[in-house]
Amino acid sequence: MTGEPASSSTSAPLIDPFGRSIEYLRVSVTDRCDFRCVYCMSEHMTFLPKHDLLTLEELDRLCSAFVRRGVRKLRITGGEPLVRKNIIWLFNQLGRHLQTGTLDELTLTTNGSQLVKHARDLKAAGVERINLSIDTLVPEKFKAITRWGDLSNVLRGMDAAQDAGLKVKINAVALKGFNEDEIVDLIHFAHGRGADLTLIETMPLGEIEEDRTDQYLPLSVVRARLMDTFTLEDSAHRTGGPARYVTIKETGGRLGFITPLTHNFCESCNRVRLTCTGTLYMCLGQDDAADLRKPLRDSAEDDLIDAAVTEAISRKPKGHDFVIDRRSQKPAVARHMSVTGG
Ligand code: SAM
Ligand code: SF4
Repeated sequence: MTGEPASSSTSAPLIDPFGRSIEYLRVSVTDRCDFRCVYCMSEHMTFLPKHDLLTLEELDRLCSAFVRRGVRKLRITGGEPLVRKNIIWLFNQLGRHLQTGTLDELTLTTNGSQLVKHARDLKAAGVERINLSIDTLVPEKFKAITRWGDLSNVLRGMDAAQDAGLKVKINAVALKGFNEDEIVDLIHFAHGRGADLTLIETMPLGEIEEDRTDQYLPLSVVRARLMDTFTLEDSAHRTGGPARYVTIKETGGRLGFITPLTHNFCESCNRVRLTCTGTLYMCLGQDDAADLRKPLRDSAEDDLIDAAVTEAISRKPKGHDFVIDRRSQKPAVARHMSVTGG
């Protein structure tokens, strides 16, 4: 016998029971955030103790195991991913898979509060596009919806991102009575700055102070209203996510709709989500999960991780069953979006 023991890690692709190929991993690197958006968190959140979190080295190892199994797109999210200490180290590590060609895209979803500081480093690590969440362009309303956020700082972050050469897509959650009169302004703002805009229906995730029935604005209604102002042309554009796009003829920009409630998109779901404690959720809207922290820590080889991931993917459900109405007062799942990663 010579040399090192052969690793029994596998590169077998991840195909779920419905024949969907899992090529997209979203990773929540922290459940913490410097904002408290009213639809996402309650004001007084209890966060995980720091010692429960995977280290950045462990996150790198898990993400890399997924890349070996055919994941082509990694999205880093949270909580607010850029508040995690030393997060740029993780981006730099994961960027090596872009260089070897095993990964097509490394990206992040952010509230923008730390972009002034990190935009250049993100670009240098290989990030090309980011999703930036902005629900309103009115400073006082921004403060009200995020509880702790400052719009001017986020807009400076957007400038820094674009100056660094990052392509920005703006995400806005459509909220009844809050920003429904601002959608046209948001479109002009985003498209005027060369950014796509995606609207998201609010999802029943986690207990919050507000009543979600009061917040829920079906995007079918928004779309119908927009046709009074704009010409919407269906677009074949896809980003590997659930958004369906139209091109707005008058601005030439793209508008995406993420409609988990009015139009269920689960049939084409290609993604799974990893939390900062190493829990793998096979569906955003279901409770079933697999623990990857134990197999990660029980062996220095990746064989235990591979077996746990294979088993988890064999349990990926067909889809979620979100409902928001007066009769369903409880959230579909108890955990907040900031835990699973939006
Ligand atoms: N903190 C980062 C941010 O805000 O972009 C990343 C995490 S956040 C959970 C990701 C996205 O999820 C944001 O665009 C946010 O608006 C959205 N989000 C949070 N809670 C949601 C909910 N209950 N329904 C729909 N979207 C939600
Ligand atoms: Fe934080 Fe993002 Fe949730 Fe707002 S949506 S509280 S910024 S994690």
